[in-house]
Amino acid sequence: MNRILVTGGAGFIGSAYVRHLLAPEGYDGTAVTVLDKLTYAGSLARLRAVRDHPDLTVVQGDVCDAALVHELAGRHDQIVHFAAESHVDRSIADGGSFTRTNVLGTQVLLDAALRHDVRTFVHISTDEVYGSLPHGAAKESDQLRPTSPYAASKAASDLIALAHHHTHGLDVRVTRCSNNFGPHQHPEKLIPRFLACLLSGGTVPLYGDGQHVRDWLHVDDHVRAVELVRRSGRPGEVYNIGGGTSLPNLELTHRLLELCGAGPDRISYVPNRKGHDRRYAVDHSKITAELGYRPRTDFATALADTAEWYKRHADWWGPLFAAT
Ligand code: NAD
Repeated sequence: MNRILVTGGAGFIGSAYVRHLLAPEGYDGTAVTVLDKLTYAGSLARLRAVRDHPDLTVVQGDVCDAALVHELAGRHDQIVHFAAESHVDRSIADGGSFTRTNVLGTQVLLDAALRHDVRTFVHISTDEVYGSLPHGAAKESDQLRPTSPYAASKAASDLIALAHHHTHGLDVRVTRCSNNFGPHQHPEKLIPRFLACLLSGGTVPLYGDGQHVRDWLHVDDHVRAVELVRRSGRPGEVYNIGGGTSLPNLELTHRLLELCGAGPDRISYVPNRKGHDRRYAVDHSKITAELGYRPRTDFATALADTAEWYKRHADWWGPLFAAT
C-alpha cells in the first residue's frame, strides 16, 4: 500500500488534494497522513467529507518539529508538501514565521526524507517566485526574482529542495502554480475576502488602480496537476501550473460585484500594497507536453459556483472573516 504524508493537509489546497486522493472514484488504497499545525489558516472542517475514511490519519504538528517529522517520514513512501505561511500581506507585516515555516520547515522535511528513504518529495511552490513580468509568461528555466517576503521564502525553499535532488539524488519534484480559488479558501485571500465583504453588506478594499494582473486557476485543476506530477513527473524537475484566466483585479472585482448583485459604489480604493507585483504569468506548456495536463474548469462557471458556496457557508467563513 502506498503511504503519502501530506503536509498542510488542513489548508485550502492541501485539503482539496486529500479529498481528491480519497475520493471513491479512482481510490487506489493509498493511505494518507495529514501533518498540519492548524494555524489560523488550518481548518479540519475542510476534511469533513473524508474524516471517517479508514485510510486517513490526521496529526496536529509542526513541520519544524524534527523528531515528529522523522518519525512520520519513517512510515511514509512519499511526501507532498503544501504546508506554508501563504498570505503575502502577512509576510509584509511580519516575515519571521514565513522564513521559519517555509524555509526551515522544508529543510526539516528534506532531511527526514533523505534519512528515511522517502521515494518521492513533491514540493508545492508558487508562480510568485518569478516576480512581476511586464509581458510574456515565465518558463521553469527563468531566473527567480521574488519580491515579497512570502515569495522569497518560497523561492528559497524551492532551491533548497532542488539542491537535495542535485546533491543527494533525492527524487524532488517542484510545482509552481498561479493563484487558486474555490470553496474553503480563507477569507484573507482576494476572492473570498471580497465575497465576504459583499455578503456582509460592506465595500471591497481594492489595492491601487486595480490593474494588477493575476492568472486564476480553480483549486481542482491545481490538485489534478499535482497528482500528475506525483505519479508521472520526473525527479529534479520543476513544473509550472497555470492556464486559468488572466484578469486585472478591477475586472475580477466587477465580476464578483455582479455575482453578489452589487454595484461599483461598493468598491473602495485603498493605498497599494507595499511592493505590489504588477503582473504574474506562467507558461505551463511543459506539464501539458510531458504529463498531458490541461485545466478543465470553466472560469465563469467556477467563479459563480464559488460565490454560491460562500453564500451558503457563512457559518464557516464568518468567524474567520471577523478575525481578519
Ligand atoms: P493555506 O494557508 O490555506 O494552508 C496552509 C496550511 O499549512 C494550513 O492548514 C496551516 O495550518 C498549515 N501550516 C502552516 N504552518 C505550518 C507548520 N509550521 N507546520 C505544519 N503545518 C503548517 O495555504 P494554501 O493556499 O492551501 O497553499 C498551500 C501551498 O500552495 C503553499 O505552499 C502555497 O505557497 C502554495 N500555493 C498557493 C497558491 C494559492 O493561490 N493559494 C498558489 C500557488 C501555490
